Parts: sequence; structure tokens; C-alpha cells
Amino acid sequence: MIKVAKFGGTSMADGVNFRRVADIVNADSSRRFVVVSAPGKRYGGDTKITDLLYSAHTALEATGALGESFKKVRERYVSVVRETGLDFAIEELLDRTEEEIKKIRSADFTVSRGEYLAAKVMAALLGADFIDAKDVIRFTADGKLDEASFALLAEAFKGKKRTVIPGFYGALKDGTVKTFTRGGSDITGAITARAAGADLYENWTDVSGFMACDPRIVENPERIPSLSYQELRELSYMGANVLHSESIFPVREADIPIQIKNTFRPEDDGTLILPPSKYRYGGRTVTGIAGKTHFTVIFLEKSLMNAEIGFTYKVLSVLYRHGVSFEHMPTGIDTMSFLIDGALLEGGVLEQICREIKEAVNPDHLRVYDDVSLIAVVGHGMSKNVGTSARLFGAIASAGVNVRMIDQGSSELNIIVGVDTEDYERTVRAVYREFFE
Ligand code: ASP
Repeated sequence: MIKVAKFGGTSMADGVNFRRVADIVNADSSRRFVVVSAPGKRYGGDTKITDLLYSAHTALEATGALGESFKKVRERYVSVVRETGLDFAIEELLDRTEEEIKKIRSADFTVSRGEYLAAKVMAALLGADFIDAKDVIRFTADGKLDEASFALLAEAFKGKKRTVIPGFYGALKDGTVKTFTRGGSDITGAITARAAGADLYENWTDVSGFMACDPRIVENPERIPSLSYQELRELSYMGANVLHSESIFPVREADIPIQIKNTFRPEDDGTLILPPSKYRYGGRTVTGIAGKTHFTVIFLEKSLMNAEIGFTYKVLSVLYRHGVSFEHMPTGIDTMSFLIDGALLEGGVLEQICREIKEAVNPDHLRVYDDVSLIAVVGHGMSKNVGTSARLFGAIASAGVNVRMIDQGSSELNIIVGVDTEDYERTVRAVYREFFE
């Protein structure tokens, strides 16, 4: 049995937690590959190391000095090492790191040092080998993961009993350090699992798995004991924040299950995420509910739109030119709407896009609605149980909420409902009550 154990930021927040992580790893000899995040928040209001490093980079660009934020980074690592009781020359490593940051002057390199330093200390604590992600995780020139990474990792693992790998970054072929998007250590863990031929990818975090809905909206929601890769993808893309939504791609080919575990309650079962070959439908109609708020809708109406060849193409070309992606596109015979993350349309982008759409397709009406929220109701059971949508919309109607949009994924794995943002939480609670209580 081979396991990859990835630990997130809260699991690495201070020296006591470093020890906790080491105990978890040492408790199971099959945990041979350890991937770590940078130290996260120790308490509400604290700042993650990654965020401190982003600020340090900004300060370096603006003033030529790394400033206060980097001082805090130094203090955090010094106290991590002190709290572990480890004999480790952290000051020297920090000095060297500071020099490199000043020389290289790239945001990606600077922030990658959070994971680098954490992995160095963890390797010393475990008496394990350290492998630098920049030597084994490779990106192609257009920023995608280079398949060569799997062979590079496998080669680096040869003859080693236990290794620690920093998450979140890799490098281009020329050695330039590049990071994944935020939360990307989850992806490093998945890549490592595939390269190591692991039987299980354990993802250790600060919650006991996926909850059936956001615990900030429903008190103590049910834990999801197991779900499929596809359900995970739908839920995490739509806002369930436990795992990076791209984490399944590397493990998918290799059929490796992912288990979400809680560092602070290791005895809890967590959530098991299963590839298609291992997933068995357990009888639930709905597996989970997730949601995202603050979408903008661009609504178009034009008589005989259906007969106008190229209409959609012309509208989408405008979005493409502005690098704006849309989440959903409900259509009628003479109408069409685009749901777009409001953050992508700030700073005059929305106005410009609307102008260009009018020029491109000359609609009878173009209207913009602000503040629509989306709720995704996800589960393989929905295709197996007749009447699911009747129950869903019945529950929403009973809560007195007006549905603005409906989108059923073609796989029948999800139904996405758009409501006014002010109705969002009420809707989530109503749907949870219908399917889980
Ligand atoms: N430290 C990085 C972040 O805060 C990556 C990670 O933790 O996965 O996003």
C-alpha cells in the first residue's frame, strides 16, 4: 500500500501543528510521500504565509526592499522551528532565500518560498528526503502541466523511503519557477500520487470532509461519506471549497481515490472520492449542494434570433476578445442570456462588452441584471429518481423564492438554479431541508 499525504495550510500553521503532521505521517509507514502547503492562518484575522509573500513581492517592486511582510515571514518560520524543538539552521536558510528573492524578483518565485521552506523543515522533522518541486514538476511554455513531470518525479523517488515535496509550484523547462493557481498544493498532491503509483491520495485539511452544504448557511450539515470524481468536480467548481477543483485530473487516469481527512480529528472517516471504476451508487438522490454568488446576467432579445446563423458565434466572439468566460447560457427561441462572474466585468469591461454586442448583433433589447446567485444541486441519484426536480422546485417555491434561471447539466448530474443573491441563503436552506432532513 502506498499513500500520498498532502497537508494544507492550517495543518502547517505553527510548530505544534508541524509535530501533529509528523505524528500522522509516522503513524503509517505507507505514507511515503508527503506534500505540504505553506503555513496558513493560526487564528481568525491571522495572515497566511502565501499572502505575506505576495505583499513582500509588491513591496520589493515598489520600494526595492522586502519590508515588514517578509519580516513576519521570517518570524513565523523561526517560531515554527523553535516550537518543533528541531535543531535546524532556519536563519541561514531564510537569509539565502531572501537573497534569491531579491535577485530573481518574480512574484511566483517569491510566493513559492512559502511551500519550499515548509517542506525543508518538514523533511528535517521526519528525517525524510526533500525533493524540490522545481526539479520535478514541469510546466509547458503555455502554462499547462508537462506530462514529463510524472517521469521526472518517478525517477526522483527511486531508492527513497520517504520524501517531502513542496506543493503549489514547479518550473518551466528553463528552470523559471511558476506556481499553480491558489490552493494548488492539492494539484501537486494529485500529480505526486499518480507518479508514485499510489493506492490512495490523502488530503489532510481542517474539516472532516465534504459537507452536504455550506456549514455557514446550514448549521451542522451532514458529512458526505463518499462521492464520485464527477460529483466532486461539480461541487468544488461551484464553490465547495475543500479541494482545488482541478485536483482530480492527474489521479483520474490512474484510478486513485482521494480521501479528505481532518488533521485535527484524524480518527474521523472524512470523505472518500472515488474514480468511476470504484464508485458505487449509494442510494441518495442528492449528494451535495454548492453555490456561488454575485453573477451578472447579460440578457439579449431579438426576433427571429433562431434563424440568424452565427448569432451566438458573434456574441461569444465579443466575450472571447475580452478574455471573459461565461458560466451558463440559457436560451429561448428569441432570447439568450449569459451568466458571468461579476468580478470579470469590473472597471468598465461590462459597458464595453455591451457596446460591442450591440454593434455585432443589433439586438432588439439588451438588458443587464446584477446580483444573481447560482445553486448547484448535485448527485448521480438525480437521474435515477423520478420527481427530483418537482421536489427541488417545490421546496424553492415554498420558501417564496423566485427562480431566475434553470440549467440541467446534460449528464443529469446537476441542476443549477439561479436566484437573486438576496434569496441565496434561504434557497440553500430550503433545498437542504427537502433532501437531507
Ligand atoms: N499556499 C498556497 C495558497 O495559499 C497554495 C496552497 O496552500 O495550496 O494558495
